[in-house]
Amino acid sequence: MYELVWDEDVGFRYIYRTQGPKWNNKFNHDKDAKPCAAFNNGAAHNAFQLKGDGGCRFGHVCDHWVSDKGPGGKCLGSAGAKGHARDACDNPNRSDSRLE
Ligand SMILES: [Zn+2]
Ligand SMILES: [Zn+2]
Repeated sequence: MYELVWDEDVGFRYIYRTQGPKWNNKFNHDKDAKPCAAFNNGAAHNAFQLKGDGGCRFGHVCDHWVSDKGPGGKCLGSAGAKGHARDACDNPNRSDSRLE
């Protein structure tokens, strides 16, 4: 089936596929990219999380709450093991609840 997808390089375009896009092991390396829920939950990507080429729109960085970045502050991998996800968060400032 043809599906309209958003591509950052060319805008909206139609692509043909028999099933949803498969994650191609790439993700958004922009420092402002929002943390990826699939990455942090250890789950498969949903179609809306992927660009037409299968690249993830989001950053594969930890989204654990932290206490040193103000309201709603998240780890984002700024401390602790490189490339860790939420469950493995070892940021020394990690917090069990969102800072209000
Ligand atoms: Zn992702
Ligand atoms: Zn973390």
